[in-house]
Amino acid sequence: MARVLVIEDEADLREVLQYNLTQAGHRAFAAATGEEGLKLALEVKPDIVLLDLMLPDVPGTAVAKALRREPLTQFVPIIMVTAKAEEIDRIVGFELGADDYVVKPFSVRELMLRIDAVLRRGKSSEQRVIEVAELHIDREAHRVTVGGEEIALTALEFKLLVTLTERRDRVQARGTLLSDVWAMDSEIASRTVDTHVKRLRDKLGTAGRFIETVRGVGYRFSETPSGSQGE
Ligand code: CA
Repeated sequence: MARVLVIEDEADLREVLQYNLTQAGHRAFAAATGEEGLKLALEVKPDIVLLDLMLPDVPGTAVAKALRREPLTQFVPIIMVTAKAEEIDRIVGFELGADDYVVKPFSVRELMLRIDAVLRRGKSSEQRVIEVAELHIDREAHRVTVGGEEIALTALEFKLLVTLTERRDRVQARGTLLSDVWAMDSEIASRTVDTHVKRLRDKLGTAGRFIETVRGVGYRFSETPSGSQGE
């Protein structure tokens, strides 16, 4: 059971989603405008937000940014619902930090599966051990092995790797990594990120393939890289 907040101005769609979410065992909350959605988000502290990009009062992108600014909803997974396929890169990519998206018209079944996937992913960030194929990360022991071989990482490289794996399948802009891993201003040196990612990849050997370069944006950890890397 998850608490799901639907922010969607189309009444029919809102009802269909609420109905299906409830059927799937979730607790559904719904808002018809961005402002109402933000208010409700702070009230109900949802586990996940389905956010329509085109809302009557404020754009969904502004709602997403506002959710990220609020400490209470800062880490809530967001699935963007959009009718504009061409907006997707921007949405999922970087500054908005949406976790996934669906393009209208979408199948409700598919959306339900996406919701489950995003919720599962969120849980993995609390796990002590992260395992991806031959890569094994023990967060508490600060130990990384690849195919059973221990890899010596600096504290920074470890933090970078854990940050990327926690947000797997989500593109991380260089600026985001700089502020989250280095606690540095993104204006200073995004080359720093490239240098460290390169070193980390080299050290990881075969498991280095999981860190893909997303040209012009940053990096993404993925067990099944999409092949969009620029190296
Ligand atoms: Ca709409």
